[in-house]
Amino acid sequence: MTAPADLLAFDREHLWHPYTSMTDPVPTRLVTGASGSRIVLDGVGEVVDGMASWWSAIHGYRHPVLDEAVRRQLDRMAHVMFGGLTHEPAVEVARRLIDLTPAGLDRVFLADSGSVSVEVAMKMALQFQRGTGRPERTRFLTVRGGYHGDTFDCMSVCDPDGGMHTMWSGVLPQQVFGERPPRFADDVDTWAAGFRELAAEHADGLAGLIVEPLLQGAGGMHPYAADCLRVFREVADDHGLVLIFDEIATGFGRTGTLFASEAAEVRPDVLCVGKALTGGYLSMAAVLCTAEIARGLSVSDSGVLMHGPTFMGNPLACAVAAASLDLLTDGNWAADVQRINAGLQALHRIDAEDVRVLGAVGVVQLDHPVDTEKATAAALAHGVWLRPFRDLIYTMPPYVCTDEDIAAICAGIAAAAEVA
Ligand SMILES: *Cc1c(COP(=O)(O)O)cnc(C)c1O
Repeated sequence: MTAPADLLAFDREHLWHPYTSMTDPVPTRLVTGASGSRIVLDGVGEVVDGMASWWSAIHGYRHPVLDEAVRRQLDRMAHVMFGGLTHEPAVEVARRLIDLTPAGLDRVFLADSGSVSVEVAMKMALQFQRGTGRPERTRFLTVRGGYHGDTFDCMSVCDPDGGMHTMWSGVLPQQVFGERPPRFADDVDTWAAGFRELAAEHADGLAGLIVEPLLQGAGGMHPYAADCLRVFREVADDHGLVLIFDEIATGFGRTGTLFASEAAEVRPDVLCVGKALTGGYLSMAAVLCTAEIARGLSVSDSGVLMHGPTFMGNPLACAVAAASLDLLTDGNWAADVQRINAGLQALHRIDAEDVRVLGAVGVVQLDHPVDTEKATAAALAHGVWLRPFRDLIYTMPPYVCTDEDIAAICAGIAAAAEVA
């Protein structure tokens, strides 16, 4: 076995980490194992994972049911191409997704990552407009403060200030941005008037409307009033836009309902799910759309949906996703999310610019950018793993966290806020 110091030295010299520099790398820590709500860090020991591996490990690590699902599938086949072939895990995961998501979303594309699923969703909207005789509709309407992934079309609908638009001006497609939807119901009417006006002004060139329902995640951890979802649906209907909900962060119970769109009982035309889909085991996402969208895009020039990644419908990922969805629906996720929500209310005692708690999401916003290394060290001293960004220290813990875990996370966030 290579010594930890050598692994870290090689890593520092040769490996990119998310959003980091190769010439001036940030410190990384070595993980040697994980179990339940805990990850094990070399030199630190076991800590509670307040991030659920970027919001995906909802059932915790090394869950016996999920481990078994992967092992069983491994004994059949790890992978096989999806072109011209199919397999039981793909059918089973699609069947479950159709059952769980709002009625009518019953055509499924299995993508290999969240960003790819957003690309596919946007492509569906563009092909739908072409198929229905409106090829001039090529732009997307969205709101400020969003995050939809790091590939180019995804970046084009991310927040124009936080989403590196300046850096990529001249490269990114120019989309149409409405104001960030308001947090409180009282402010919805004013916001909606402006948003409707903007949509009307650009309608002739718009193919679709894409948003994260109820909670904007990586764009700023900003929850907003559920009534805004109805406004999105109305605007899409009024102007013939394909409504895309990106539930990659919010799906599978995170905000308190199985899908965030259920908070206002609004059904999109296209839905993206990812992150927690496989319980954090493997990279997979899915795009679901209605029969109408599927029909419309099929009569575009090509006649087919022009997308097909190499690892589409990977059997291992499908098998563990199906098992993860069963764990979710057979279990007590709603009670767990509610219990975690109650525990996270302790964050309101922290002296900060703003504190926001929604479902199993807790956010502390400071009045200055976080010193990530200081904040991380302070949280680790309290036995908690956090990954703050910008002026935000937040948690999206695994649903299997105990009340003690959640109390520890809150204490870790308080300590991080203190020094950051
Ligand atoms: C994480 C995320 C994505 C991108 O998913 P990847 O799997 O990282 O490509 C897209 N949309 C939202 C809302 C996300 O949270």
